[in-house]
Amino acid sequence: MTGVFSLLPEGQPGLLDPLLSGAWLSGGGEDLPRYLAAGGYAALPEPGRLLDRISAAGLRGRGGAGFPAAVKLAAVRDAPGRPAVVANGEEGEPGSVKDRWLLRHRPHVVLDGMRLAAAVTGAGHGFVYLSDAPAERAVRRALAERPTGLHVDVVRTEHTYVAGEETAVVRRIDGGPALPTAKPPRPFESGVQGAPTLVANVETLARIALMHARPESAEAVAGAHLVTLSGTGREGPATGGPVAGGAALAEVPAGTHLKALADLCGHGRADSVLLGGLFGGLHGAGWADLPLDHDRLAEAGGALGCGALHFLHPEDCPVAVATEAAAYLAAQSARQCGVCVSGTRALAGTLTAVARGTADADASGQLHRWSRGLPGRGACGLLDAAARVVGTLLAHFPDRVDGHRHAVCTACSGPAPEDGRRFTVPVP
Ligand code: SF4
Repeated sequence: MTGVFSLLPEGQPGLLDPLLSGAWLSGGGEDLPRYLAAGGYAALPEPGRLLDRISAAGLRGRGGAGFPAAVKLAAVRDAPGRPAVVANGEEGEPGSVKDRWLLRHRPHVVLDGMRLAAAVTGAGHGFVYLSDAPAERAVRRALAERPTGLHVDVVRTEHTYVAGEETAVVRRIDGGPALPTAKPPRPFESGVQGAPTLVANVETLARIALMHARPESAEAVAGAHLVTLSGTGREGPATGGPVAGGAALAEVPAGTHLKALADLCGHGRADSVLLGGLFGGLHGAGWADLPLDHDRLAEAGGALGCGALHFLHPEDCPVAVATEAAAYLAAQSARQCGVCVSGTRALAGTLTAVARGTADADASGQLHRWSRGLPGRGACGLLDAAARVVGTLLAHFPDRVDGHRHAVCTACSGPAPEDGRRFTVPVP
């Protein structure tokens, strides 16, 4: 079970409001007349003014990198050629559900955002890119209900860790495999069929639509986040959170402390966290006081990524968690870059040996060297994610790692699953 919650202040418009109020949903989908009445699909703005609003509000992309949305929009607009826009709903992180939830339950707000992004960039062709069958049905229904004024194609892909990476998106839409390509060029320079292409996460587009409908709240809308919360620990005593030891999709204001998020989903006893899905690394002492903020988390050596947080309880073994993450990432390597194939395999294999207490004396030193030397050497972020998981494990939990040399850890005794099951959250 995954709960759905909002921590937004009273009156602040949010993307989860319709579900919470029950007002906009009928038959599990978004109610078009109510969406229109709430300001959806309003007249197209003067493109420069909307871009200024997005820039002033400080909206950052929600796919993982957190790049300023206005900069990306302007780059596509200014590139030579007729642009295309892509609503990217393929969330590869197993611990994230927000994008599939949005497409399943609020397709109109995403399509409205895509229409606005097309207006800003001058695009005439839009693509909705996804792998989730219920999401596809909802999007097709919404398109039939209200055309966007754009030529829109829905493109289905396989669900893999890397299928949502922006160059993989372009490659798949162009008829190839959903695998990343070397950069440059980036899609804003040469994307779908060579056209400058905006590949925008569906939450980013939804926030643009909400900012257009509620301009007086643009800054608050731009700062809020959809987060997916989960945990591996056994259920602890009730903490006052609405879910006991469960998973949650929540919308929260910028700067919310991570401890408040743990409490929200019943993981109040958590003593560490895995950030950004698998992309932001493990964090121990001091994690609870960190705010949900791209820059502050980066200063702490982490990354917000897609906004998925996985809480660990005192009885969890961080070495076991890191080993499962590394095994999953090694299995998900697209096997295009030699350094990724050998690097992820080496990280996962050596970490497994450490976890079982069979590693040689220099294993930690070797893992340290790889965690520093491997990032940035693959065509996409998968190798970086694996290196960060290992590097942050060593940095934040040296005693727990070392302890595996001296005593058998029951949590680490079996083979590490490669399917990411520990991190997978059901879509609510
Ligand atoms: S870094 Fe790994 S996952 Fe990414 S493109 Fe290269 S081989 Fe594929």
